[in-house]
Amino acid sequence: MNQKQRMKRWTVEDAADLYQVREWGAGYFGISKTGDVIVTPLRGRKDVCVNLPEIISGITARGYDMPVLLRFEDILDSQIIHIHESFRSAIEKFGYKGEFKGVYPIKVNQQKQVIEAITRIGKLYHHGLEAGSKAELIAALSFLDDKEACLVCNGYKDREFIDLGLYACKMGFKCFFVLEMPGELDLILERSRALGIKPLLGVRLKLSTQASGHWIESGGDKSLFGLTIFQIIEAIEKLKRAGMLDSFKLLHYHLGSQIPNIREIRSSIQEACRVYAGLVLEGAAMGYFDLGGGLAVDYDGSHTNYMNSCNYTLDEYCADVIEAIMENLSEHSIPHPTIITESGRATVAYYSVLLFNIFDSSSIDVDPVPRELPENTPDIILNMLEVLKSLNVRNLQECYNDAIYYRDEIRQMFKIGDLTIRQRALGDKIFWNIIHALSENIKDLKFVPKDLMDIDIALCDTYYANFSVFQSLPDSWAIGQLFPVMPVHRLAEMPERNAILADITCDCDGKIDRFIDKQGVRHALKLHSVKEEEDYHLGVFLVGAYQETLGDLHNLMGDTNVVSIRVHEDGTYSIVREIEGDSVADVLSYVEYEPKSMTKQFRATAEQAIRENLITPQERREIMNMYEEGLRGYPYFEK
Ligand SMILES: *Cc1c(COP(=O)(O)O)cnc(C)c1O
Repeated sequence: MNQKQRMKRWTVEDAADLYQVREWGAGYFGISKTGDVIVTPLRGRKDVCVNLPEIISGITARGYDMPVLLRFEDILDSQIIHIHESFRSAIEKFGYKGEFKGVYPIKVNQQKQVIEAITRIGKLYHHGLEAGSKAELIAALSFLDDKEACLVCNGYKDREFIDLGLYACKMGFKCFFVLEMPGELDLILERSRALGIKPLLGVRLKLSTQASGHWIESGGDKSLFGLTIFQIIEAIEKLKRAGMLDSFKLLHYHLGSQIPNIREIRSSIQEACRVYAGLVLEGAAMGYFDLGGGLAVDYDGSHTNYMNSCNYTLDEYCADVIEAIMENLSEHSIPHPTIITESGRATVAYYSVLLFNIFDSSSIDVDPVPRELPENTPDIILNMLEVLKSLNVRNLQECYNDAIYYRDEIRQMFKIGDLTIRQRALGDKIFWNIIHALSENIKDLKFVPKDLMDIDIALCDTYYANFSVFQSLPDSWAIGQLFPVMPVHRLAEMPERNAILADITCDCDGKIDRFIDKQGVRHALKLHSVKEEEDYHLGVFLVGAYQETLGDLHNLMGDTNVVSIRVHEDGTYSIVREIEGDSVADVLSYVEYEPKSMTKQFRATAEQAIRENLITPQERREIMNMYEEGLRGYPYFEK
């Protein structure tokens, strides 16, 4: 930030630009005039709006400590409505003759609350479910009571899975078995004969189209799942022989998740349509064309084909899907199929926000160098001090080189015993003063030398954040995914600090040091100084997809508190579902400890301490109370 920008008064508009909230917020998130994050969960209803800091005070007043995973059920509704409305208008626009049926893939967020909410709003549009395992099918059957909705079964199917699916068909569910492996067909045909139930069959196509992004291996020739064209032809032969070609109704493929480039989506449709047309000509019943997932979320708001973004909107996706299918099926005048998509990420990502507080911060010490240095100060340190004194706009690169040289020398001399611990500390202090002076000086430069470009990052603070990356943002740690992170209040105030976030696990991987940026990745986040008297709250946004059940118990941090709210017309809200996070006893029992017997054991240890005159009986009582309260407590940082 240069002098001119600093002089200009900071406004909430600047905050919106800095954190790019308009770009990734999809109209759901914004900033109020007073500098709070606000949420407008109903599309097209800007007047219905809640204030995030107010919700935080409301839920903490009710006794929920941070971190809290906050869900906006209205946003989930809005996304499902948005998907269906977008497809409806594309279907109208192009005169498509088939319909659209969405299904929600359970694996993207399996929590009961989520499935419950989706099947309730989904009923309006016959939005169904996709199950990739036996457990997911069992869950789906208990929540889906809409016989018009599709139930798509992917995943490997054993006899139990198949029998359950066949009975679901008999009960009137539109339950499709999608063949993932050629071998599954024999078992399905055998069980179908044994139970006298006709299956609804589909195949998963192994595409040769390769997509970019994190999950490239899910599509393409080398993908683990699906049938090659050759295997599909063999399946057709088998079905013909069994007289069951009329059961073959669906073609499915899944290019992978988070496909950032619309061209790849179009080109996969082109290939799959060729296969679909071929199957119709072979005499299969068909009628359903299932594109799988892949509809991306623009996490960094850059609207590009960068992996954390996408170069298309939902409306454009729907229009392109409809147009591409029509174009590619027109040649053989194939009847327009019912289109199924299995969008998970785009359906649920927006509706959860992870909220947490900062419980401490640390910054690089740049206290001024004392005027008088001790008499015996070694030359090497005096040389370093000379660098600091001589530093000016014209010799920045040279000073930087010298400072690094002397720093390394000082470290080496300390290591072999030529410098004392106090001399080393003095050397470090002068070094950081130089770095600080460099970063002040480059602010006014037009062209910053390459070495000095990231010097601010060397000086950046560490903010200690009350959450666990491993539990709540596993994709941030495991695959370097970016999520938008920002303060949820004080946005009318200019953030003066550069910081990275360290989580509460004290694991060196437990951090966020990559942040969204219009051009790639930013290595520090602008934040406000933390005040003694006021909690500083941040939010990580768009965390509704994949994060919850992939999260783990690293350092025994358990599930966070989860609160789901509904927003009313007048801007008030009600909590509609709540799940208390794990207690310390809960997480310990997940790893086979028995809290009861631990207490018993510790009681005996405390009794022994009394015998050894280390504590009094009253102290034992207090210690035991503390221990048991600790077991009942929240594993996160409590105040
Ligand atoms: C994971 C998965 C999905 C969901 O993909 P998104 O990109 O989250 O929409 C859909 N279908 C199948 C078969 C999947 O494995």
